[in-house]
Amino acid sequence: MPVSGNITTHAEEVIARCRKLAGFSEDAAGTRRTFLSPPMRACHAEVGAWLKAAGAEVRTDAAGNLRGFYSAAKSPAPTLLLGSHLDTVPNAGAYDGILGVVLAVALLESLEGRKLPFGLEIAGFSEEEGVRFGTPFIGSRALVGRLDEELLNQRDANGISVRQVIQEFGLNPAEIPSAVLSGDMLAYLEFHIEQGPILESLNRPLGVVEAIAGQTRMAFTFTGRANHAGTTPMHLRRDAIAAAAEWILTVERAAKGLPELVATVGKIEAKPGATNVIAGEAQATLDIRHKSDEVRASAATTLVRQAEEIAAQRGLSVRHSVLLNQKAVAMNPFLVDQIERAIRKTGCDPHRMTSGAGHDAMILAEKVPVAMIFLRSRGGISHDPAESVNVEDVAKAMECGIQLLGQLAESQEFVKRTYRA
Ligand SMILES: [Zn+2]
Repeated sequence: MPVSGNITTHAEEVIARCRKLAGFSEDAAGTRRTFLSPPMRACHAEVGAWLKAAGAEVRTDAAGNLRGFYSAAKSPAPTLLLGSHLDTVPNAGAYDGILGVVLAVALLESLEGRKLPFGLEIAGFSEEEGVRFGTPFIGSRALVGRLDEELLNQRDANGISVRQVIQEFGLNPAEIPSAVLSGDMLAYLEFHIEQGPILESLNRPLGVVEAIAGQTRMAFTFTGRANHAGTTPMHLRRDAIAAAAEWILTVERAAKGLPELVATVGKIEAKPGATNVIAGEAQATLDIRHKSDEVRASAATTLVRQAEEIAAQRGLSVRHSVLLNQKAVAMNPFLVDQIERAIRKTGCDPHRMTSGAGHDAMILAEKVPVAMIFLRSRGGISHDPAESVNVEDVAKAMECGIQLLGQLAESQEFVKRTYRA
């Protein structure tokens, strides 16, 4: 795909490629491509052929990540990593993850064989969504040396371990250490659909991610007294559902009152669970996210205290447990500035934003400076066949990427600022 012609034509080609890859699926009716499933092999063959045609050396590393390497003008030289993930959720759309890989391939093609002062590596990660083993980021973990024995021994619903899946795909788990990022890696850049409605609401095609939000996940159990729904007067009840409900609205109010805080009670369950019985127990989950770890921690403390106060006022008890406590990850400020500049050069207003969802960039940030560019998601929809991007936005993303590569290639600062071997 030469890029010297009309950029809209190339953006259309990017979209056509994403739609073609959506056809490589475990399900006949929709897109589902989990860790090293047979359609992933076909997907690798397709993307690998595009990479080879653009001048890259292609391999699949022992963690099942597709890796294409395009050398620098001179050797030795450091490398810039571009990419996203090739796995999908069940009943997926065509763009989550895939678009970032296909755009990276298109950027490589846009060079038309020209070499940069740094090499380029394109990565198509094998397992970001965590569908098959319940553990996300298996592919990118391998690049930072965190695909360990414990993870290799995890089993899917059919009792097959990560290690077995790797072997059955024809890869060697003993070679996983060679998947680790080379020491001369400058940075990681990822294009991804926003998966939310913010850019659409602002009428902007592209956003630059400042941070990936940290997450706290908790489980609460309100314990009251189950009793007869007909014979127990209202003032003598210890109703666990009513207490949980009062607290859930407190959660919503708290999140609305703090800028950029999102808090969700996504699951509730009550016992004994009968129409004519007052609930004796109610369980509720809590998911809180914010770009600041301090804000998130203080919100979690407040919501726990409020659950306790509500329970006490109603003569109930409440206990909670923390299921996940994941820190926020900052994007590299130098790269964020460069991306903002590149977006402006395309004639668009950049929007600085927080990613509420986790991404491979979060894992790679352990080793290298990272940055992400979001594309407006039509209707804010993702993880659904209705997932969609505008061809004009993809064209802007390509322009932004070409501009960014040019800026970084000319920047005396880039290597100095980002490189930490
Ligand atoms: Zn994704």
